[in-house]
Amino acid sequence: MTREMRIAIDGPAAAGKSTIAKLVAKKLGYTYIDTGAMYRAITYKVLQNAVDPCNEEEVAKLISRTHIELEQGNEAQRVLLDGAEVSEAIRSHEVTSQVSAIAALTSVRQLLMKKQQNLAEERSVVMDGRDIGTTVLPDAELKIFMTASVEERAQRRLLEEQLRGMKSDYVTLKREITERDKADSEREISPLKKAEDAIIIDTTGKTIEQVTNMIVEYAEKRLAR
Ligand code: C5P
Repeated sequence: MTREMRIAIDGPAAAGKSTIAKLVAKKLGYTYIDTGAMYRAITYKVLQNAVDPCNEEEVAKLISRTHIELEQGNEAQRVLLDGAEVSEAIRSHEVTSQVSAIAALTSVRQLLMKKQQNLAEERSVVMDGRDIGTTVLPDAELKIFMTASVEERAQRRLLEEQLRGMKSDYVTLKREITERDKADSEREISPLKKAEDAIIIDTTGKTIEQVTNMIVEYAEKRLAR
């Protein structure tokens, strides 16, 4: 299939971006790319190798030999790091608490941005993250900025983590989400920010199906132009 459209979905942590992006991609027959999973995979590798996340030189050396693959399964997406599956491991609280620091490093962003742009070169994609509409795919045909109240985001993440069998609590998750958004919004390179031409969707009180359908409709309108 030739490239029809690139859909960029950005927004704060736990706003439902990946759940929705996956469904939109399925409905339109496009490839879903979870860029957060890439930053998480790098963070996992840094932690596994006991490299100090603040030591950019060491981090850059370590990741120069890194292979990240996103495999499209029927339901979930599998994340492979240097050939080994890390899909579950990258969702741990340890990775979550360190990922913003790693994502603020220039060498990490340069490496992953190139990877992400290559993936969107020849195919239609739904890509979710923080800087897709502003930096990775500034010419994306459709840009969405997805938000929700921090209370609802923490509640949704709690349910998700409980279903995964993780020990989590609402207060900690709310604090972790708030801190991560602050770090992601305040970093120097490619901060979390709405692209000027992005459509804002506040998902507070909306169902997954409603939001998915809204985005598919926007996409269909763009295609019909
Ligand atoms: O989307 P997710 O919450 O899994 O992303 C994890 C972290 O990866 C974010 O908090 C952010 O620090 C980083 N990230 C980023 N740019 C992206 C996607 C994720 O900096 N495009």
